[in-house]
Amino acid sequence: MAVLKKQNCCIFKPKNDMCDTCTSYESKNLTQDQYDIHRKDIQDMRSEKLIDIENAKSGLHLLLCIDMQAVKLIAQTNANATYYKMKLQVHNFTIYNVISHESDNFVWDETDGTLVASTFATCIIKYIKNSIKKSPNIHHIIIYSDGCFYQNRNVILFNAILCLCVQENITVEHKYLIVGHTQMECDSTHFLIQRKINKRQINFPSELSGLIRESRKNPFPLKVHHVDYKYFLDYESIPKRYVSIRPGKKSGEPTVNMIRALAYDPSGIIYYKTNINDDYNVLPQRTQQKNRDLHSYIPKEYQYPKRNGNTCRNLNFYFRLTATAFMIIYPLYCRFCCFQMNYFVFLNQFNLILFSRIK
Ligand SMILES: [Zn+2]
Repeated sequence: MAVLKKQNCCIFKPKNDMCDTCTSYESKNLTQDQYDIHRKDIQDMRSEKLIDIENAKSGLHLLLCIDMQAVKLIAQTNANATYYKMKLQVHNFTIYNVISHESDNFVWDETDGTLVASTFATCIIKYIKNSIKKSPNIHHIIIYSDGCFYQNRNVILFNAILCLCVQENITVEHKYLIVGHTQMECDSTHFLIQRKINKRQINFPSELSGLIRESRKNPFPLKVHHVDYKYFLDYESIPKRYVSIRPGKKSGEPTVNMIRALAYDPSGIIYYKTNINDDYNVLPQRTQQKNRDLHSYIPKEYQYPKRNGNTCRNLNFYFRLTATAFMIIYPLYCRFCCFQMNYFVFLNQFNLILFSRIK
């Protein structure tokens, strides 16, 4: 233990998100052969990542890992008056550069964006475009992530990245870690953020952004991009060279969740593999419009569907309005209030007045 302390390391104890396959093996519901295959897949994936890290050190590749932090509920407070109140969801999507250790955190609340494929595609594509603008000698990008469908493994993201490769003349490889063993460098960022915000009183999403920025000091602070609805682009309307991302057609043939890695080519073709040690195969295109022109495609601003008659933009407006009102009225209100006042207690009361008038 003394050695670990000296090296500034500690042993991670997994809590509740243990791998299903490993748990099944421990409870003797899985054969030794099945478990050996699982362990081999994990080892192969780790070796692949080590090779990619070595190659990326040359400076010609960009090696990223991406993940979403568990949703944060704001206001975070100990006052029991807010315990049963509806809270605001704040999301943090992290893109971590494995070589330079820069960690970019894209933060937004639910009035600015929902968790749809276009949201993640926007963050990834804008990040890559920025990176290649800064380092024009980079032509190959490798991304590691888990296999979450709405985030990392869907037809919208596939077509969006393909479009990027065609337009920027680069190649992208996206590799999916084994389910239950998706530990990545992003997790360290999320751990530091969680440690920083634990037991803190947080009233506004902007306060959370500030705390995220301060959660790491070395080698440099975390980067925070507090984005709003104008930032997100609509990749759902992209000209689709691929309408389906399933490699096989019939039963028994490879399915989407068997895809282990993808490679996007600037000529507009996607390759896939279901085993990390295999060679890439061409992903079949099941459309008549195989050669749709992607060079001239410019995505528009994302239009969110209406929710209870309110567009996301309206909700955003009301949210900003009440937040401003709160900042003005709060000092006066507190003078007459004996309990610990919080923004969301106020927000609920103010919204009742506001929405009843709008009707
Ligand atoms: Zn496992």
